[in-house]
Amino acid sequence: MKKLYFSVFIICLQLTGVAQDSAFSRQWVDTLTSPYFFGRGYTQQGMQKAAAYIRDAFKQYGLVPLTGSSYIQEFSFDVNTFPGDMEVTINNKKLMPGIDYIVFPESTGSHTQGKLQQADSVTFVNQEEKVIVTLKDKLTWSVGREEAPYTGIEVNKKALTSNPASFKIAIDNKFVKDFKAANIAAMVRGTAQPDSFIFITAHYDHLGSMGSKTFFPGANDNASGIALLMNLAHYYAMHPQKYSMGFICFAAEEAGLVGSEYFTNHPLVPLSHIRFLINTDLAGTGSEGITVVNATEFPEEFAMMNEVNDKEKLLVKINARGKAANSDHYYFTEKGVPSFFFYTQGGITAYHDVFDIAATLPLQEQEDLFKLVRGFCNKLMNE
Ligand SMILES: [Zn+2]
Repeated sequence: MKKLYFSVFIICLQLTGVAQDSAFSRQWVDTLTSPYFFGRGYTQQGMQKAAAYIRDAFKQYGLVPLTGSSYIQEFSFDVNTFPGDMEVTINNKKLMPGIDYIVFPESTGSHTQGKLQQADSVTFVNQEEKVIVTLKDKLTWSVGREEAPYTGIEVNKKALTSNPASFKIAIDNKFVKDFKAANIAAMVRGTAQPDSFIFITAHYDHLGSMGSKTFFPGANDNASGIALLMNLAHYYAMHPQKYSMGFICFAAEEAGLVGSEYFTNHPLVPLSHIRFLINTDLAGTGSEGITVVNATEFPEEFAMMNEVNDKEKLLVKINARGKAANSDHYYFTEKGVPSFFFYTQGGITAYHDVFDIAATLPLQEQEDLFKLVRGFCNKLMNE
């Protein structure tokens, strides 16, 4: 159903001949955040479904695999998942998953109840049942790579009227050894210097689900980045460049940059052939511009990017930042690949929570970001 709708959409784009950047991005974000992909994580085959969907789109747009005959680069790692029950009652009040509470990512499962004793101003424990409850102002979830010998619950302070004194929980976890994930790597071959590459990268995974009912859509993080990457892939497939344009959608970024680290240890093209890598993560806002990680490491390229921005009057501001290990560019930088990572600023504050949804994501700078990357790539190839 989804796929058919998508195909029809692509045909419409081809008929009009011009990619409507905003509508195109909106379509991608709506699709990737839908329940079918279940947060592009570790339950209900969410990440695998997203991988297949992206691979099919690359094929449809006319990109070829980066190497060999497959778009897929598989790898595996251990991860803690929550595929089943997810019920928490504190002080006889049933809490809403994701909104009132989250579990510690490393939590083990448990079906039990009991009383809680205060350990400090925000921590409450039941030693015998190995249950910890902590109070938080904001809930920010992540992915656990280990399984702890206890069950931890972070409760939003606003959900309770008094300190946690009693609990009842039904939580299932499943620690998965060798969870299989895949990077998706495609390219548009260069016309003059096909062995020189510009890489455009973004991670497509998100946090997945907390239980069988609650998933984290990850609209800004990072359906928005994939939307921008796909926009560029679609454009470059129709407009091949001097250099080869590589497009890598990384898996398992949220588990600790696992996919991009794997790629740099098993590169599909020699890393020395990458003239520049542009990574994007959180591309869905931009009312306050963008921030560029590694700007101070590569001042010449940063000046080039600013020239494009000034000339085409795109973003209100481009902030410079130094090195940071905060997305998939990181291991490339460490291995000597010149790279930028940019993220948008302003607008929504939802981050790693159930409120990072498509409906409230502005996506207003996708077209400007598209033009910025295109203009920057032009300069890189013609310097
Ligand atoms: Zn991200």
